[in-house]
Amino acid sequence: MSIDLFKIRSRMPSYNPNSNVNDRARWLPSSNGTYSASSALASLRTPHPFVPWFKLVWFSQNIPRMSFILWVAIRGRLSTWDCIHKYDPMAVTTCVLCNTHPESHAHLFFECLFSRAIWTQLMNICGSPWNGLCWNAFID
Ligand SMILES: [Zn+2]
Repeated sequence: MSIDLFKIRSRMPSYNPNSNVNDRARWLPSSNGTYSASSALASLRTPHPFVPWFKLVWFSQNIPRMSFILWVAIRGRLSTWDCIHKYDPMAVTTCVLCNTHPESHAHLFFECLFSRAIWTQLMNICGSPWNGLCWNAFID
């Protein structure tokens, strides 16, 4: 036993390791001591409450990439220029589609003339007129 281990051992008088039993690794975040990717993820993430619109985004036939983008957009976490401007005040916030208005989630998806033209054509193809939905109404 090294001098360092002896010092540690002297501070733990109630610790009596059994030399007849092999040491084993134990994963503390899991209840059974076994490592799993889900238990590692659960130990790292902060739990959030379920939202009522969860199944509108995540369903069995979803396209994961599209669902992820929708999820992030609803959370207001897309890297639109108004969000980037919060940590980069020098960033140009003008919408890259129309070059006339500041880019935000609301503008990018519904208020931009370019987006509005796409929605109008898409809804015409579907046989339903575009009613000019705004971002907050869409989210609601
Ligand atoms: Zn625009």
